[in-house]
Amino acid sequence: MQNSKGLSQSARLETKPRELERQLESRTEDKALENRLRETNAALKRLDAGIYGVCFDCAKPIPYPRLEADPLAIRDTECQQAYDAIGQNPATTDTAPSPMGRASRRT
Ligand SMILES: [Zn+2]
Repeated sequence: MQNSKGLSQSARLETKPRELERQLESRTEDKALENRLRETNAALKRLDAGIYGVCFDCAKPIPYPRLEADPLAIRDTECQQAYDAIGQNPATTDTAPSPMGRASRRT
């Protein structure tokens, strides 16, 4: 997919410093992108570990339509709702995410 296009792309970047300026200006966007990137990396790690598409909380498979809507989802809809509810109530923090710790293969 990326035969010789990588070269022409970097060349284009050098000739267009304005592009970079614009990127620097949109710091808040960068933050969101950064978060997205982190989530993506986490998803890739789960993929690597063979636990992608498995609910982080109940270890059931996440329904495909949910993954299609959000490929980075780590919980099925029910658990995500429960998690969001807990997030609004800091009293219960026992489900703090520890990506590698809990997601062992218990099946
Ligand atoms: Zn679940």
